[in-house]
Amino acid sequence: FAREFYLTAPPETMPKLKARLMANENPYGISPKAREALVKAVDLSNRYAWMEFGELANRIGEQEGVARKHILFSPGSSDILMAAAAYYTQNGDPSKPRTILTCRPTYDDLLERSEAFGAKIEAVPLTPQYEYDLDAMKARIGPNTKMVYIVNPNNPTGTIVNPQKLEAFVREVAPKVPVFLDEAYIDFLAPAERPNTGKLVAEGLNVIVARTFSKIHAFAGLRLGYGLAQPDTLKALRQYTNNNFGVSITTLMAGIAAYEDREWQTYCRTENAKVRDYTTKALKGMGYEVIPSFANFLLFPIRMKPKTFENQMWANGIGIQTREFGGQPWCRVSIGTQAEMEAFLAEFKKVVG
Ligand code: PLP
Repeated sequence: FAREFYLTAPPETMPKLKARLMANENPYGISPKAREALVKAVDLSNRYAWMEFGELANRIGEQEGVARKHILFSPGSSDILMAAAAYYTQNGDPSKPRTILTCRPTYDDLLERSEAFGAKIEAVPLTPQYEYDLDAMKARIGPNTKMVYIVNPNNPTGTIVNPQKLEAFVREVAPKVPVFLDEAYIDFLAPAERPNTGKLVAEGLNVIVARTFSKIHAFAGLRLGYGLAQPDTLKALRQYTNNNFGVSITTLMAGIAAYEDREWQTYCRTENAKVRDYTTKALKGMGYEVIPSFANFLLFPIRMKPKTFENQMWANGIGIQTREFGGQPWCRVSIGTQAEMEAFLAEFKKVVG
């Protein structure tokens, strides 16, 4: 999935899509209240964001049970991932080997950046249920392990780890090695499925929690995210960011309104679950195994060469992604609206014959 293509290809070669199901975006758009705040904030466009960060930090702090000093804002969570990759692969003695421990397949951005900085990636396979294998990971922690990276819910599988098990893992491991929890999709979970990672931060554990407004709040284009960690860690990570200059005041004002709009979040979560169930059932009805997903996308094995399948779907106006692992090609499709998923299924039937 080459983002470079879209940066370099001539505009007339850009595909025209009827369903954008390749980037796990929120198809319902931003909350009406966020839109109102965004329009109002246009008049502040000439200003840098300053004290406005405090207002959102207070609300997040209250919700997560952490203090202001535990929060670092960023334009999307990617910047927190990249800062952690830079810091944990470069601090300390440069002659010592550095390893980032994770499970694969997972979200590769932090891992690829760490590799670019010279670190080795030690990836344990997911369990047979395609979940992060915390026990196997624990056994692999060694003197060179610089950071443990966990994506929960995982991308591309949509699976979660048991919340109590994850909390116990962090309490045991974080005193030895920093644990990075990428929670981009956490807002799609029901309360009982969610680990209390804010509490882990408040307890003083060496854990970095990355959150984004891109998914449940539909801010993928507006760009807003944050990290929760110990103040010393955030100070170190801040060295690898542009010190909050990446977050625009318009996005921030919209973010405050979105964060408060529980009704819109519930609407997006409920619709996503409904359309995800519909799509899962439809694919199963066609004889496809689908990994039970807790997020806003599905992963299922296909019976075609991944690139052939992907190209044909795109040519038919349906943007999806493919993967190859375990000797098997897979389709990863984001959950769009009901109409978009019906279009996906119709084109899917045509392509697979
Ligand atoms: N982490 C995971 C697991 C993701 O899937 C994504 C994007 O899809 C990100 C982080 C980064 O997203 P953003 O920078 O928009 O917060």
